[in-house]
Order: sequence, then structure tokens, then C-alpha cells
Amino acid sequence: MCFGSLPKKGKKGMYFRCKNCGGNVVYSPEKHGMYCPFCESEGSDERAAGQTGALTVCPNCSGEVPVDEHICATRCPYCDSYLIFDERVEGKYEPRMMIPFQMGRETCKQSLRDKFRKCRFAPVDFLSEARLNSMQGYYVPYWFYDYDTACSFLGEGTKVKVWVSGNKQYTETSVYNISRNMDIHFEKIPVDASLQMPDDVMDLIAPFHYNQMTPFQARFLSGFYGEKYNMPSGEVEMRARSLMKADAEKLLRESYAGYNSVKTLSQDVRVRESGAAYGLLPVWKYIYRYKEQEYPFYVNGQTGKIVGTAPFSRGRFVAYVGTLWACCTAVLALLQILLGLL
Ligand SMILES: [Zn+2]
Ligand SMILES: [Zn+2]
Repeated sequence: MCFGSLPKKGKKGMYFRCKNCGGNVVYSPEKHGMYCPFCESEGSDERAAGQTGALTVCPNCSGEVPVDEHICATRCPYCDSYLIFDERVEGKYEPRMMIPFQMGRETCKQSLRDKFRKCRFAPVDFLSEARLNSMQGYYVPYWFYDYDTACSFLGEGTKVKVWVSGNKQYTETSVYNISRNMDIHFEKIPVDASLQMPDDVMDLIAPFHYNQMTPFQARFLSGFYGEKYNMPSGEVEMRARSLMKADAEKLLRESYAGYNSVKTLSQDVRVRESGAAYGLLPVWKYIYRYKEQEYPFYVNGQTGKIVGTAPFSRGRFVAYVGTLWACCTAVLALLQILLGLL
């Protein structure tokens, strides 16, 4: 690796080049390391920077690369090299942590096939090799929030005891004061900071397992698309706060389970300390276009969890009903022949 000689900052694109053959080296989730698909060598990567200093010029082929406002990693449309934009992964945009892709394209394609194989009314090419090859891996920007909270609950609980003695039924209701104080620490509540990724989908694609979280390294981006955060942490924090509050209230509720009824007198979730950190999480995206409509599928690049609804082909449905009808007609004809013979 040759990090030392390069300027740390600048409006530049860079990419990882193979020391053996000059090809574009990418991060391989299957091999858990850098891999050159051209000469099949592993760990032969060196960081190569562009010469012009312009963000939009591919450092490999000098082609003009279209760069969206929030993109920090993309693919050159001319030479197919995966480029990373220094100034969008450095300074205030440097992610503190990330989960590198654990599932490669082939594994992801297989998961989609396994899940939707039984959808017999989906269009024929929905799971075709050519269509599935269009899927792209994205590093989605997330804010992770930590909270130190003091939670308290005051209430009145009742326990009801019923018994029978002789021919009489007795009911005894005891009333208890409930007081709970809990210090709850929340760590890394994730909220996506991408405008193009739908919030509900990003919530559904969770959870991510943090045991595979590592400090940020630009090389993990090679082979994928990536975005820097689209909005500062303060702008999306409300979503984290409401997730945290719902969790805290659930934990409080669980702590006073066992009463027949509980009346809340006061409840408080107070944040003593909070912090936010920026990181990237891996998501595969497959957009299937059918009859001028887009069907997006998102796959958690760590766990393989799929979010998306299979398209419905009217043609295949009609064909299926048609086949059924043809079978019924054939059976009826056969019956008529048989009955005629009797
Ligand atoms: Zn190579
Ligand atoms: Zn290029």
C-alpha cells in the first residue's frame, strides 16, 4: 500500500489498482479481502489518485464521470472502475465505522431466487441472470445515536385474588404502589441519512449485527456505490429519540408485569447524555422494471434479509388460467367420450 505519498485532502477521485496487471481491485465479501477480478490475485491493491484534481474526471481513463451531490463512491461508466471521492470520505464526512459487505452479488442473487422462486405469476425475466446482474451494492449513510437515560415510573397496580369457600365466592383486591427507577444505556440506534433510500424500507431491512462493525476503510468501498450523509445528525435525530423512547417504555412496562391492572401516575424518560456517530451499512439494491413501473428490492448486505414485493404478470396469470381451462375442457371431452361408450 502507498498511502504516505498522497495528499490527504483534495478534490480528487481515486481507485484501487492492481500492482500485477493494472486492473481495478475490488473488495470481495466472499474472500473477505481485496481481489483483482482481472488476474485473480488477492491483496495486490495500491491506491491510485487522479492527476487533474477534478472530482468528475476518472483517475483511470480520464473520462467525465457524472457525480451526484451525495455520492462518495461510484463506477466509471467508461472503464467500469470503481471510484472513491476523497473529499467525501474525509474530514467531516469521514465515517467512524462501517459494516463491510458480507454477502457478494452471487449469494444475493441466490437469496432472491430462493425467496421468489414460488411466485409463479411473476414475469419470466424477473429472476433472470441478466436482470439480476444489474443489482448494485450501496453503502448507505447512517447516524448512530447513543443515549444514557434515567427512566422512572410511578403507578398503582392491583392484584385480584378469587376463591370459593362453601357456596360463596370471595374476591380480594390488593392495591400496590409501583415505583421503578432504571438507568438505561442505548447504543448505536441506527437512522439512515440518505434521501434516496426510503426510511420505511431501511427500518425493515434492520437489524444489522454490530459484531462485524469495523473502523472505516476506503478500500471496503471499492466495488460498490456509496453515499455520504445527506443531512446532519440533528436533522434525523427525532427518529432515533422516538425509537429509544418506545424501547425505554417497553422495558419499564416489563419491569412491572404481573399485576392485573396498572394505572400510570407518572412516567419519565430523561436523557442524561447523548452522542451521534456517522457510519455506513451495506445494502444491495435491485430495480426491476416492468411495464413502465419500477419494483425495487433491497437486500441487507450483511444478513441477506430481503424487502420488496414481486411484480405480477397478468400475461402469466392468464396463461396459467388458460392452461387450467384447457385441462378441464380436455377432461370433460374425455368424460363425454367415455359416457358415450357406455
Ligand atoms: Zn490484477
Ligand atoms: Zn474510467
